[in-house]
Amino acid sequence: MQDYTRHYVGGRWAAGSGRGFTSIDPYTGEPWAQHTEASSADVDTAVAAAAAAADEWGRTPGVERGRLLDALAIAVQDNVEQLAKIETRDSGKVFRENRAQIAFAARNYRFHAGSADKLTGEYKPLDTEDMVDFTSREPVGVTALITACNSPLSQLANKLAPALAAGNVAVVKPSEHASASTLEFARLVEEIGFPPGVFNVVVGAGETGTALTSDPRIGLISFTGGVGTAKRVAANAAANLVPCVFELGGKSANIIFEDADVDRALVGAVAGIFAAGGQTCIAGSRLLVQRSIYRDVVDRLAERAGQIRLGDPNDPDTDMGPITHRGQYDSVLRRIDEAVQDGARLVTGGRQADSGPALFVPPTVFADVTAQMRLAQSEVFGPVLAIMPFEDEVEAIQIANGTNFGLASGIWTRDITRAHRVAKRLQAGTVWINTYRASAAQAPFGGVKQSGYGRERGTDALLEYTRTKNTMIDLSDSTRDPFRLAT
Ligand code: NDP
Repeated sequence: MQDYTRHYVGGRWAAGSGRGFTSIDPYTGEPWAQHTEASSADVDTAVAAAAAAADEWGRTPGVERGRLLDALAIAVQDNVEQLAKIETRDSGKVFRENRAQIAFAARNYRFHAGSADKLTGEYKPLDTEDMVDFTSREPVGVTALITACNSPLSQLANKLAPALAAGNVAVVKPSEHASASTLEFARLVEEIGFPPGVFNVVVGAGETGTALTSDPRIGLISFTGGVGTAKRVAANAAANLVPCVFELGGKSANIIFEDADVDRALVGAVAGIFAAGGQTCIAGSRLLVQRSIYRDVVDRLAERAGQIRLGDPNDPDTDMGPITHRGQYDSVLRRIDEAVQDGARLVTGGRQADSGPALFVPPTVFADVTAQMRLAQSEVFGPVLAIMPFEDEVEAIQIANGTNFGLASGIWTRDITRAHRVAKRLQAGTVWINTYRASAAQAPFGGVKQSGYGRERGTDALLEYTRTKNTMIDLSDSTRDPFRLAT
């Protein structure tokens, strides 16, 4: 068993005072990492350490913050294999996907290494020449960064890179199911020489998260996870009027029109739902297919899903690993049963008689799913696809927008005017046209409706972690009438 019982607080490795717990490898079923939960008192110490470091870090020149972030980008890239191995043990996601995601995390640190000295304000021309007015962007101070169980280090980079670049300090809490990689990442931060307190990690579940999100010294909470948890976080934050960035779940629609390059669309549809075993927020979990090609697409998709190889996530021949933890595994199976009860047609996959110690759910495809079914409305967070037919563009848009979510969407068509027409009407933070799951360090990411608010990545993310200050200077020699507000 690996020892990950210490938290990283104020530049030191401290023993947590909460209960001990283990992380289970979802492929072997064996506990592999030992942790200790951070109690409310431990969280208090971590926030205090961050608050003590906030002022100096906020005043550190951007070029110096950028230098450290650049070193972090290099360190993450240099350690990509080791970090990916750890995440594979925690999450069960295949090693090559973890490696690619962590390499992308390094790219995000590099992007914000370059943005740290480019935070500018604006000169505001006023109605009088006697006054000068300008804005500047200031850090919010202590940020609380909470990541989900599926991709801790890539989610952390989405948050930490812009937060540090903008001059904030951070207290990070990863999921209890996947904490080890964040603690390993803290060793890199320590080696690089970030000032103590700028970056802190506390590990734990409910009590830890509640203590962190209820602390009045927090200036902003950035949270990735489920809608239900987000509402609890929002309630804690509301008590102190702390702003939040929420990256939540989805029920994203991947729409194939009859004029699409169907071979390409099928590749996008399969990757859209089965990459990471469907345990991604952007999973294209609803496949909307135009009626004229519906039957053909269902058959071909089922065939491809049946070819996906489940197995050891470290084996390069494995396409899909297990579900990350037992609670999520049971939830996915319940959702499969529910879909059958609701009358969806199971085309391939479904419940397996015995999957052994590994938490395997086979690639599962349901066809003839209707908009009212639970499978069409709520997130499964597993390898379960709902295929739905549509007649025309109007109906496709109506079905696509007919959930409480709005994270991502895909459009497959050769008609450029249709692509733009539909893209404009889709209620989603991201629209992919003739591709799916593509990401870039420069491109903003986030949701609408119950998929969340606020944006990660690129310059949009940098702005989330700052507040505008307005400065006004009176240039005249005479005393201005203080009761005349307008200039
Ligand atoms: P959860 O909502 O269960 O957990 C998310 C994080 O919140 C974990 O660190 C969790 O800790 C923590 N947490 C739990 N209770 C509290 C609390 N009361 N206060 C503060 N923090 C708390 O999500 P999962 O980890 O299961 O991840 C799956 C969800 O995340 C899916 O809905 C998925 O769509 C979404 N997601 C969204 C992404 C996006 O960018 N939009 C990306 C990836 C996933 P612990 O696990 O220890 O309980």
